[in-house]
Amino acid sequence: HPVSALEADAEERRLEAALRPRHLDEFVGQQRVREQLDLMLAAARLRGRTADHVLLSGPPGLGKTTLAMIVAAEMNAPLRLSSGPAIQNAGDLAAILSSLTEGEVLFLDEIHRMSRPAEEMLYMAMEDFRVDIVVGKGAGATSIPLELPPFTLVGATTRAGLLPGPLRDRFGFTGHLEFYAEEELERVLRRSSALLDMRVDSDGYRQIASRSRGTPRIANRLLRRVRDWALVKGLDTVDAGAASDALTMYEVDARGLDRLDRGVLTALCTVFGGGPVGLTTLATAVGEEAETVETVAEPFLIREGMVARTPRGRVALPAAWEHLGLTAPEVAPG
Ligand code: ATP
Repeated sequence: HPVSALEADAEERRLEAALRPRHLDEFVGQQRVREQLDLMLAAARLRGRTADHVLLSGPPGLGKTTLAMIVAAEMNAPLRLSSGPAIQNAGDLAAILSSLTEGEVLFLDEIHRMSRPAEEMLYMAMEDFRVDIVVGKGAGATSIPLELPPFTLVGATTRAGLLPGPLRDRFGFTGHLEFYAEEELERVLRRSSALLDMRVDSDGYRQIASRSRGTPRIANRLLRRVRDWALVKGLDTVDAGAASDALTMYEVDARGLDRLDRGVLTALCTVFGGGPVGLTTLATAVGEEAETVETVAEPFLIREGMVARTPRGRVALPAAWEHLGLTAPEVAPG
């Protein structure tokens, strides 16, 4: 039923949007980034100037989009959302830039995936609030300079290291988002459950938080699954047992590994004997894109001490074998 799947999707997105913090003081955790951003925005407001460009890096789901929305809200400015992959050529970017209004916040997700010519146009736009629009081709081509109103670019990337230096250097503020501590995730969950009008006891929160892989988006998603479970089972309050049963049913295990994570681990251990194996080969075995494995599953598995990146490829560490209930092969001496 494609229609009902779409509706379910829309409902998920609606709930996710409803749970987004709107202001900096509702944003849980990331204290350093929050304080620095707060100061920078306050200064910009006092000067009556547009805020400096902001680069946010970190794994998916830690709040980059949310922070971009907050920057716009705190500056009382409109927000435009786009992404690197959506900008195929310089013309696409020129169209966006030339339609910005004064002070507007432009959010570019996955900014590291923009095309080269667009990137070069962006350098000039960020620095001088100006672009050169090339009209015509070959010898007859001319470039027409176009003034832009001052705007704030908020760029997001999973790894700041993926950005070329000249682009990175043009951001006045760089914030790196870290995985959240369990206690912070519990705060995210408390806030969300209040908004969703559901009751969870403190062991229930702990149980969900411990399976959320340090990621608020995952915490909120698991909370919604637990909410479905509680509704169907007619539970008034979610306790640890209910949370654990619900999440086990959704294939989220006690350490928060989901199907993709377990797929990667299982392939690494059983197909490749624990590695080392190259990222692309590993991703193919799991039927996923290399970038998904690298940015979604791997940071978590590395942090959990289950996988290591070595110059020769990915290897399974003892914790991986242990978690899968497998015995690691004997290492040949020498
Ligand atoms: P991606 O880069 O994949 O878009 P993201 O880092 O932009 O991910 P967001 O979309 O901003 O992540 O956040 C995901 C969800 O997590 C949001 O719906 C928001 O409700 C919640 N969230 C993120 N950070 C926080 C936070 N610090 N406090 C409370 N909720 C948060």
